[in-house]
Amino acid sequence: MTLQARFEKAFMPNYGVPPIALARGEGVKVWDTDGTEYLDFIGGIAVTSLGHAHPALVEAVSTQVATLAHTSNLFLHEPEVLLAERLLGLLKAPGKVFFANSGTEANEAAYKLALKFGKHEGRSYFVAAENGFHGRTIGALSLTGKPAIRDQFGPFPVEVRHVPYGDAEALREAVTGDCIAVFLEPTQGEAGVVPPPDGYFAEVREICDATGALMVADEIQSAIGRTGHWFAHQADGVVPDILTLAKGMGGGLPIGACIGFGDAATLFAKGDHGSTFGGNPVSCAAALAVLDNVDLEHVQKVAAQLRAGLESIEHPLLKGVRGRGLWLALVLTADASAQVQKAAADAGFLVNALQPDAVRIAPPLVVTDAEIQSFVDALPKILTEAAR
Ligand SMILES: *Cc1c(COP(=O)(O)O)cnc(C)c1O
Repeated sequence: MTLQARFEKAFMPNYGVPPIALARGEGVKVWDTDGTEYLDFIGGIAVTSLGHAHPALVEAVSTQVATLAHTSNLFLHEPEVLLAERLLGLLKAPGKVFFANSGTEANEAAYKLALKFGKHEGRSYFVAAENGFHGRTIGALSLTGKPAIRDQFGPFPVEVRHVPYGDAEALREAVTGDCIAVFLEPTQGEAGVVPPPDGYFAEVREICDATGALMVADEIQSAIGRTGHWFAHQADGVVPDILTLAKGMGGGLPIGACIGFGDAATLFAKGDHGSTFGGNPVSCAAALAVLDNVDLEHVQKVAAQLRAGLESIEHPLLKGVRGRGLWLALVLTADASAQVQKAAADAGFLVNALQPDAVRIAPPLVVTDAEIQSFVDALPKILTEAAR
């Protein structure tokens, strides 16, 4: 029986059956179980920041797991303190950190933090964006602006009003003195790598300041160098009240963070929240290795090369390119992303059919000029193959 057939037999059907089974990786290269080699231009959904089997990540994780793998929050350990200090240093704003294991848990912490503030102030509802994605647990799912994955699991404990993304006037109308918090991605990831108009986040900040609502930046996909900045909101010149991180932070090991700034830093009192595994020493060691080895200048350089290369391609199936840094979508002229994903894999490149007309490109941040060039060179033929 193939691995796919065994997978189908053993697993719940929520993912469908992925056609490719990966066996190992090195840098941007991965090999499937048949030994076929690919260049990985999706990086486990913007997660494997350092690529696969990066020596610094291997060393940090191996040493830590051989030393102390778990403490629970009954005991503290140095890697978590070092990591929190490093993150706050990069954020350049006074704040405090809570570590979780995943993106949805980071948002769940933000949701509870905001809810505590909202109850104290007598506020009653959240605002988030249509098509936004914040995770699959109930609080995070209620914020997610995709009725197809949300509505069958409602009703939800707190009302969430969804507004069109990038429309500051719609946000201004939706956010009143009764609004607890506004949850937004600095660029919408799962919606198709959709950046907002310039200046949108500054307006979001201003609307939150005017009404007293908390501003929550969900940077689970956008942070840790992905856009060429440590955090995407830094390029927008704003500081949110609450920031959530996960995906690329652990370079493949599970870790998430919820960071509060200003008054939001100390909203949780002792006993208000917790996680047995959150901020475990191995994941913290991995995240420290990531922060030590992400080179923003390199990201900016190869991102500019990738963007220029993709934009130079003229093809009837390619409408354009959008996104920031090493986090782009190929926007197609037809709903052919599945065909592009398949043709790319046949040509030796892993990309992601994100929306019917959008293909996500998010290679490891260590991707080289030569690897980018080989993808750019291969793309016209991939598109032609997909269009057949
Ligand atoms: C992936 C993602 C999440 C959910 O993260 P998980 O680790 O899958 O729970 C939340 N918000 C954004 C913006 C994401 O991209």
